[in-house]
Amino acid sequence: MSKDIYAEVLIEYEVKSLDKVFTYEIPSFLLDKIKVGMKVKVPFNNKSINGLVLKLKNSCDEQFEIKEIIEILNEDIVFDDEMFKIAEKLKNLTLCSLSTAFKTMVPASLKVSSNKKSMAKYERLLILNKEENVIEEYINNNKKAKKQIELLEKLVSNEQIFYRDYPVSVVKALAEKELVTYEYIPKYRIMPKEKIKSVVALTEEQSLVINNILKEKNKYKTHLIYGVTASGKTEVYFNLIETILKNNQTALVLVPEITLSTQLIKRFYERFGNIVGIYHSSLSDTERYDEYLKAYRNEVKIMIGTRSSVFVPLKNLGIIIIDEEHSDNFKQDTTPRYNAIDIAKFRAKYHSIPLVLGSATPSLESMAKANVGIYSLHTMKKRIGLSILPEVTIVDMAEEMKKRNNVISELLKNNINKCLNANEQAIILLNRRGYSSFITCQNCGYTYKCKYCDISLTYHKSSDSLRCHYCGYTVIKDDKCPECHESSLSFLGTGTEKLEDIFKKEFSNAKILRMDTDTTANKGSHEKIINAFKNHEYDILIGTQMISKGLDFPLVTLVGVINADASLNIPDFRSSERTFELLDQVAGRAGRSGLKGNVIIQTFNPDNYIFENVKNHDYESFYQNEMAIRKKLKYPPYYFLTSIKIISPEYELASKEATKVKSFLEKNLQKSTIILGPTTANVFRINNTYRFQIIIKYQKDDQLEKTLKDLEQIFITNKKVYLEIDNNPLKV
Ligand code: ADP
Ligand code: ZN
Repeated sequence: MSKDIYAEVLIEYEVKSLDKVFTYEIPSFLLDKIKVGMKVKVPFNNKSINGLVLKLKNSCDEQFEIKEIIEILNEDIVFDDEMFKIAEKLKNLTLCSLSTAFKTMVPASLKVSSNKKSMAKYERLLILNKEENVIEEYINNNKKAKKQIELLEKLVSNEQIFYRDYPVSVVKALAEKELVTYEYIPKYRIMPKEKIKSVVALTEEQSLVINNILKEKNKYKTHLIYGVTASGKTEVYFNLIETILKNNQTALVLVPEITLSTQLIKRFYERFGNIVGIYHSSLSDTERYDEYLKAYRNEVKIMIGTRSSVFVPLKNLGIIIIDEEHSDNFKQDTTPRYNAIDIAKFRAKYHSIPLVLGSATPSLESMAKANVGIYSLHTMKKRIGLSILPEVTIVDMAEEMKKRNNVISELLKNNINKCLNANEQAIILLNRRGYSSFITCQNCGYTYKCKYCDISLTYHKSSDSLRCHYCGYTVIKDDKCPECHESSLSFLGTGTEKLEDIFKKEFSNAKILRMDTDTTANKGSHEKIINAFKNHEYDILIGTQMISKGLDFPLVTLVGVINADASLNIPDFRSSERTFELLDQVAGRAGRSGLKGNVIIQTFNPDNYIFENVKNHDYESFYQNEMAIRKKLKYPPYYFLTSIKIISPEYELASKEATKVKSFLEKNLQKSTIILGPTTANVFRINNTYRFQIIIKYQKDDQLEKTLKDLEQIFITNKKVYLEIDNNPLKV
């Protein structure tokens, strides 16, 4: 058999989403080194450019002159078969290019376009360089060189000593006599943690779920654990993973958001110690690189992380667990618009292993799949120990307004005081950050709006500025109305920052803490907030949805929701589902340790059906109610959706192209498919670009994939109009 002397290389091309594959000759000095999946430098248009080796071959029928590969760029990672297949899958699911797919799957420094050779750090581990009797002799004859002797004795007794542990002069003296030498070993930026927790005895419910899942541990199957808050799901995950580890396999655990999962990650470290790796976007690039490599080198056996960790190349994967599976965060809302659950399914299928989804409020899609038997359903109805579900009261804010209680209802106020008097803690949810959501002039009606987006600016008091939450545009607030110059600017719509002020006035003896995107911008700040609150340094925690999930504070007996309508009134077919989840989750923070919990929810729409379901902690009824609505309105899970946005800096052009896209779809899709629009998108103008939207609803359409690919091709070279295709969008 002749040698493979040619390589097909995928190069990073500058034009959007175009994949270019070219054949290069492998120079003789690289012949035995180049492998499929390696990153290389190749000549291209008189420049050199980075590429990824897709295939090796021994012949080539290329018409053009064949150039030679220049060098191998980074040997830390070589993509394997699974990674190639995942990239292909990602490309098909989201219609992105193969280059974009690979880019999405790795930390920044491993991207094909990155020129970084290696980010790996090493450290010098000292080792003995002579037989033990020679060392002993040296020790006996040189008793005065105390430091040298101490070092040698430690090495003789197999202690780990690094170059940096002793003064250079000491190490050098021993190295010159060839008694000691060193070897490089990888040094990681995130140090391993020691395990401390012992194992608990499982409840009957927990054992049953574990056994039922493990019965099928060697085949691909999606399991849905529907377990109320504090029913012990995490303990189930731990046990599943323990069994998998005994099999010499590894486990991947996805969590929605790192800020919501600090406590969970801590529990993983305590339970499994230094075989746990973490991977998420608030790590630095080098830290992420290290964690990725630990998985690749099979040095960590459990990887816990957010959406992007679904791509981490763990060896010999044995189980994938997705906690809080209903969360929106598993779907990426920029290109490529993938859902980590789809990628997890693909990997589980690839390895023939179980995928476990867990939630107290499963997404409607997942529960529907479980109900028709596509997923296996495992239900956990009982809370662990003494903890009982809290009592929920709904307060009609229209009535309170009459009594001039504009922000805090009488009931909530009384309960907060009661809670403070009992020396217990309260959590207050307001899902809107900033000080006030808009500033309006009472005299002329002027409202501060973003220059680039169709959105009013949010006032942030700490910086005395108005900010656009879409594009970041910021202006300093004026003293007087910029339009009519009267001093009549008023602050409307309360955000968490203003609520904190109001609470500090109303409950002046209480210590109050706020947690939202603004107070957690710095690394480590959310952990500080959580720990301070857990240690009872504060009485009341005010926050956005960030405080609604995953947190376990034994002293919290009261949860207040200031404005439940904030998420209910968002124009999206999933807003009821999201609000139910949010309220049920935040309610689950109260009364977790045997103390009785109270939840008070303030709304202007007390008659909305979801409040009855929240009040009774009744996910099943919520599910039935909402499914009936979805069926009637032809929404998921009854229909699939694809959203197409037609975006351009020119209004006329966007409008014209949107109409063309519609007729293209009508011509090519099946008759049973519903095509809605074009209409203006929810926020019509963002960053000075105009956005039209078309929604496709279908149950089955064999023409869809091809039609969308063709459409994408038509627009790929259009510099003025951009197409944003989102399959199974979470928001429309
Ligand atoms: P979930 O993930 O369903 O919200 P957790 O796993 O966090 O529930 O469990 C809630 C609490 O109960 C935790 O403090 C956990 O340590 C404890 N717990 C879980 N299982 C058991 C058990 N079998 N025995 C005693 N305590 C348990
Ligand atoms: Zn803006």
